[in-house]
Amino acid sequence: MKITRIEIENYRNIENMEFSPCDGVNIIYGDNAQGKTNLMEALWLFTGAKSFRGGSDHELIRFDAPAARLSLQFEKDGREQCAGISIPQKSRKEVHLNFVPLPSQSALAGEIYAVVFSPVHLSLVKDGPEVRRRFLDLAICQLMPRYVDILSRYNRILRQRNALLKELRFGNISYGPQTLEVFDDALSKTAVSVIRARQRYISRLAQAAGDIYQGISRENETMTLRYLSGIPLLEELSSQQILSHLRQNRQADIAAAATLYGPHRDDLGIDIDHNAARSFGSQGQQRSCILSLKLAESIIIEETTGQSPIILLDDVMSELDRSRRDYLLNHLQGKQVFITCCETAYFQTLEQGRCFLIGEGSIRQTFDLCRAQRDETPQDSL
Ligand code: ATP
Ligand code: MG
Repeated sequence: MKITRIEIENYRNIENMEFSPCDGVNIIYGDNAQGKTNLMEALWLFTGAKSFRGGSDHELIRFDAPAARLSLQFEKDGREQCAGISIPQKSRKEVHLNFVPLPSQSALAGEIYAVVFSPVHLSLVKDGPEVRRRFLDLAICQLMPRYVDILSRYNRILRQRNALLKELRFGNISYGPQTLEVFDDALSKTAVSVIRARQRYISRLAQAAGDIYQGISRENETMTLRYLSGIPLLEELSSQQILSHLRQNRQADIAAAATLYGPHRDDLGIDIDHNAARSFGSQGQQRSCILSLKLAESIIIEETTGQSPIILLDDVMSELDRSRRDYLLNHLQGKQVFITCCETAYFQTLEQGRCFLIGEGSIRQTFDLCRAQRDETPQDSL
C-alpha cells in the first residue's frame, strides 16, 4: 500500500500542510522542533492505534484551534481510497473511510498498515518487560483479531483471581481454596493460548529480525529473541503444566495477594551475541535491535496480509554508523518509507527518493534524489 496525498490542518504545530509523497523513500528534514515527529505521529494515527507519544487526544489539536483535521489518500489493492480523522476540542473524534463514517478511530485497524520507529521505542530495549509484552500483544492483535478476546479473557480471570487472593490474604473468607481451584483451572487454560500465540509470533519475528540485524551489523553480531517465562515451559506446552505451577505457588500467591507467575509477568528476551541488549548493548546496537524488530514486524505483516506496510522512521539515523545507515537505506526498496532527520547528508548513498524541508509546521518539496544526477552534483549541495 502507498500513501499518495497527505493533508493536515491544525495538528500540533502544523497549521496547514499538504504534500504528495513518492512511492519509495521520502526524507523529511528540518531543524529541531519543526514538526517532523508530529507529522509521523499524524500518519501513525491512520493505523487505528493511539499516538506512540501517549497523552490525550486534545493535546493533538493546535493550541487555540477548534479542531485538528487529517486526511489521507492512499492506494490499496490497486484502488484509490481515502480516510479522514477529525479531532474537535469539545466532542468525539470523527473518522471516515471512503466517505463512510466509522464508529471509532480503532476501526481503521486492518485498513492501513504501518510500522513506526521513533526514539520513544528505544524503551522496548531499555525499559521493563511490560513494554515488550505490549509490543508482542499489539503485534499479535493486528494479525490475529481472536487474540484480543483471548487476552482480555486472561486479564479478566487474573483480576478476579487476584481479588480472591486478597480476600484470602486478609482472612475475609473461608471458601477460598475451592474457588481458587476453579480460577486456576480457567486461568491456566487461557494462559496456554496466550503463551502459544506469543511463542509462535516470536519464532517468526526471531528469524526475520535476526537476519536483518546480521545485515545491519555486517555479519559481525547476532541478535536472538527468546520467550522468557517464570514458569518452566516444556517443549509440549499444556495447561496442566501451568496449573500445577499455580497450585505449587498458591501459598506464595496468597502471601503476596497477587498471581506471581503467568503470561502477565513474562518477557521477550533480546540478546546481542548472547548477552542481554538491555544491560550490555551500546546505543547503536540497541537502536539496531529495535530497527530489526520493526522491519521484521513489517515483513510478517506483509506475509500475513499481503499488504506492504508503510514504514515510518523518526530520527533513526543518529547513533548509527555509516555502514549501518547504508545497509538500512538499501534494504528499504519496494516499500514506501518516511524518514525524518535534521540533515540530508545521511542520504548520499540513496539511489532514489524525494526530499521535503519542514519548517515551523509547513513543508515544501526541495528535490528528488536521483543517483545519475547526483554523480554530477557536488556532494555539499545535498
Ligand atoms: P526534533 O528534531 O527535536 O525531534 P521535531 O521536528 O520532531 O524536532 P516535533 O516533536 O514534531 O519536532 O515538535 C514540534 C513542535 O510542536 C514543538 O516545539 C512543540 O512545542 C509543538 N507542539 C506540540 N504540541 C503542540 C500543540 N498542540 N500545538 C502547538 N504546538 C505544539
Ligand atoms: Mg522529532
